[in-house]
Amino acid sequence: MTTELGRLIARRIALAGPISMADFMAEALGHPRLGYYRGALPVGAAGDFTTAPEISQMFGEMVGAWLAERWLAMGKPLPVNLVELGPGRGSLMADALRATRGVAGFHAALELHLVETNAPLRTRQERALAGFRPVWHERFDEVPEGPLLLVANEFFDALPVRQFVGGEERKVMVAAGGLAFDRDGEVVETSPVQQAAVSAISTCLSQCGGIGLIIDYGHERSASGDTLQAVRGHRYVPTLVDPGEQDLTAHVDFEALGRAARDAGASVTSVVTQGEWLNSLGIGARAAAIATANPDRVPELETAVDRLCHEEQMGQLFKVMAIHSPEWPAPAGFPE
Ligand code: SAH
Repeated sequence: MTTELGRLIARRIALAGPISMADFMAEALGHPRLGYYRGALPVGAAGDFTTAPEISQMFGEMVGAWLAERWLAMGKPLPVNLVELGPGRGSLMADALRATRGVAGFHAALELHLVETNAPLRTRQERALAGFRPVWHERFDEVPEGPLLLVANEFFDALPVRQFVGGEERKVMVAAGGLAFDRDGEVVETSPVQQAAVSAISTCLSQCGGIGLIIDYGHERSASGDTLQAVRGHRYVPTLVDPGEQDLTAHVDFEALGRAARDAGASVTSVVTQGEWLNSLGIGARAAAIATANPDRVPELETAVDRLCHEEQMGQLFKVMAIHSPEWPAPAGFPE
């Protein structure tokens, strides 16, 4: 076992027996001292993976414009909690806020809340969002009550999933000095932790009003399959090796999230691909506007639109879904 956390997990298994995939994932990502999301700076070119807001400023700008439009459509509630789950380096929110400076009254109405467990990332977010006085939380439940504008990009994929093979929970055991699965076969995944998070958000939306935007890679309909993947230095690596030093994610089951949201009293839109969503919001026009002011940026902008929207890049695999208070009208960009 090569990492300290790997040795700790192996010892726990030796003492108390095999652990579920969800427990393994929770430890690998969230262990207070050694978990992946506790220490390193995972996101960005120098980290282990790159996300949409790190590819281009246009991503956060589109999200900002969409949220501000919803706020206007709802008669400008004041104050309103602007919440981001897992803000990474703070780029999405910084771009969203810059893009909405001109929306009269919007910034004055906002109370910014960031749900983030990673201390180095909190420092980054503080720097990126200087002037907006964000309040940080460990969990969504700590955000004060009130109307909500929420965004979560690549947050749900980091929450633990359980795996089942033939109706039995798949567990992680110790074998030949390393960690191994206790069974193989057709895998079915569920994520009680993801569902609890959506449920808490949806209860808040249905009680206080508001809307939340969930963007992540995953599937529109529940389906079987092992979607767990580990990434380190922008490469896929074996899932059970080096816990704590590599990212571990699972595809998000949007159908299951939608069900949990409805059960908690929220309304749910259809699920669209990231490519469709960004195109329907006019990312092409935004790229053209930036290009007109900065002709030297044309190649960079073309590459960015391609990476975000093309179906062979992020455009198809990434999905977008909104959940909202039943009192708030359905947003544009999501066909029935
Ligand atoms: N949204 C950002 C970062 C995505 S990476 C972007 O698009 O670039 C996942 C983010 O969620 C990181 O900021 C990570 O530290 C945070 N995170 C992961 N698990 C978390 C948890 N259980 N609670 C709060 N934040 C978490």
